[in-house]
Amino acid sequence: MRKKIAILGATGSIGKSTLDLIERSPEWFEVVAVTAATNSEALAEIARRTGARLAVVADETRLGDLQARLAGTDCRAAWGEAALVEAAGGQAELVIAAIVGCAGLKPVMAAIEAGRTVALANKEALVTAGELMTDAAARRGATLLPVDSEHNAIFQCLAGSHEDEIARIILTASGGPFRTASANTIDAATPAQAVAHPNWSMGAKISVDSATLMNKGLELIEAHYLFGMPSQRIDILIHPQSVIHSMVEFVDGSVLAQLGSPDMRIPLAYALAWPERMETPAQRLDLADIARLDFERPDLDRFPALRLAREALEAGGAAPIVLNAANEVAVASFLSGEIRFTDISRVVEQALTDALFEAPKSISDVLEIDRATRSRVEALMKDACH
Ligand code: NAD
Ligand code: MG
Repeated sequence: MRKKIAILGATGSIGKSTLDLIERSPEWFEVVAVTAATNSEALAEIARRTGARLAVVADETRLGDLQARLAGTDCRAAWGEAALVEAAGGQAELVIAAIVGCAGLKPVMAAIEAGRTVALANKEALVTAGELMTDAAARRGATLLPVDSEHNAIFQCLAGSHEDEIARIILTASGGPFRTASANTIDAATPAQAVAHPNWSMGAKISVDSATLMNKGLELIEAHYLFGMPSQRIDILIHPQSVIHSMVEFVDGSVLAQLGSPDMRIPLAYALAWPERMETPAQRLDLADIARLDFERPDLDRFPALRLAREALEAGGAAPIVLNAANEVAVASFLSGEIRFTDISRVVEQALTDALFEAPKSISDVLEIDRATRSRVEALMKDACH
């Protein structure tokens, strides 16, 4: 029996890496549903190649094109949120959650409510829903398998251990393209410089997040919810080579690490084959060739996003949702040339200062806080420009 897979965000960087693995082992996997935001051409091509039964675009204006491209196949074309939810909660046993941003929250929750196993790349969904998501997963018997390389590393290091044996989690971070840059250089950073990550090739939003270190901030919050660890027991360590993907320190002083070449197909393969393992074409680690591994503490002055994320985690309630929403809007504005690189953290800090929300009690509360923060931040940036 082949494992039935849905790929949410099939046209993105994680989506493509997933397809690469699946297409190398067609005897193990059957793709049943694929989704994308707008790119109906790429999505139709993926649906044809994989034999998926359902292809969903988020954007209604792309539906006609998707239908035309899928004519004569067994694949149904659909659009919009309800169809994304259907793709996530439908036939698949394993759902690859690789939409970027809070836009992926409802589909991820649908997969969890259906009791599916979720390979979670879409960290923003967990950052915003937090315990609402982990509680739902526990209630519905859904398994969350972390795909983010750091969390996947921790998940592997934790295997078989008890909660009271864990002393702390050490999340590693490459430091991004501006690790050694001066504050002035960082202030003048262009989108092209910000998305040029030294070790990983990723989508634009996460690349900018890696440059501000907001990505590590989101991952700090993600680690808190995935592993039930308080903020004080999650440390961030800069490790420029991205060979150690993260570590766990146990109460006896032992530290376990997971290492590998920086290739998302390794954590993705872990999630695809779990609880077994499968082969990948990822480059093997040659430590003699790499020769040295370096470590340093993060600089919270040049990278205030990391401080803001920790503050949001410790404040709890709606703060992580506000942090994430403000960051999503600010990063989009930076990428389209409307604000400067260092404005991203300024905007996020202002949004957190202004926010007066009660803790969310439901996913619709989460989405409402997300929406309200986005319009607040848009207004804030408009004022600043005039
Ligand atoms: P990407 O931009 O390359 O792809 C995003 C995918 O989501 C695309 O298929 C796009 O069509 C879809 N999408 C975007 N907006 C949407 C919307 N509003 N509704 C429905 N679909 C939408 O991004 P990526 O780099 O593949 O990252 C995806 C997620 O995985 C992000 O949350 C990111 O933080 C996380 N992640 C990525 C990497 C990586 O190496 N790329 C590593 C770790 C975690
Ligand atoms: Mg990561």
